[in-house]
Amino acid sequence: MHKKSGDHYDFLIAGAGFAGSLTALILQKSGFKVGLLEKGQHPRFTIGESSTPVADMILRELSSKYNLPWLYNFSRYGTWQQSHPEIVCGIKRGFSFFKHYPGEYFTTDGDHKNELLVAASSSDIESDTNWLRADFDAFLVSKVKESGIDYFDLTEIMTATRNGQWEL
Ligand SMILES: Cc1cc2nc3c(=O)[nH]c(=O)nc-3n(C[C@H](O)[C@H](O)[C@H](O)COP(=O)(O)OP(=O)(O)OC[C@H]3O[C@@H](n4cnc5c(N)ncnc54)[C@H](O)[C@@H]3O)c2cc1C
Repeated sequence: MHKKSGDHYDFLIAGAGFAGSLTALILQKSGFKVGLLEKGQHPRFTIGESSTPVADMILRELSSKYNLPWLYNFSRYGTWQQSHPEIVCGIKRGFSFFKHYPGEYFTTDGDHKNELLVAASSSDIESDTNWLRADFDAFLVSKVKESGIDYFDLTEIMTATRNGQWEL
């Protein structure tokens, strides 16, 4: 096993899902020295994700606040398709929850108290998106590498000790 020593980081992030990669990019834009570890290797299988109107707003906000202009395009189906048709995503029309009880058929009443419909835009261009996470997460990691953040895949933290600062 490869063992690494001597590198110092303000932040060392474990896990290069989209949360880890975006956090690494944001921290680097904020002036910190960042390292990102991933125990697996991209592209990797993973389940989910579909965006919501609020999640899309947050992507746009992160894009402008942390000077990540390319991120903006992933907040709508139309701009995603124009900018990165090679990264697979689908149009999302909304989603529903239905509260079920074990052993019972689903029933509802006039108030629909046990149902939730989250509607989405009917416009393809403005639409929320279903992400193929394998592609999207691999793309984010390419942005991590492009930005000069130290990236280590097939890497796991084996020990963590604190002597004034963390040693991992
Ligand atoms: C069936 C399903 C459907 C979902 N649908 C939606 C949805 O529609 N909309 C939505 O917003 N959310 C959805 N979610 C939730 C969403 O998928 C998660 O919130 C999201 O994956 C979290 O991303 P992440 O980057 O934090 O974690 P992950 O994508 O899980 O990434 C974590 C990464 O860390 C790595 N790792 C783990 N441990 C270590 C370690 N010790 N050292 C190094 N690396 C490590 C893993 O290999 C992995 O690559 C769904 C989840 C599931 C299971």
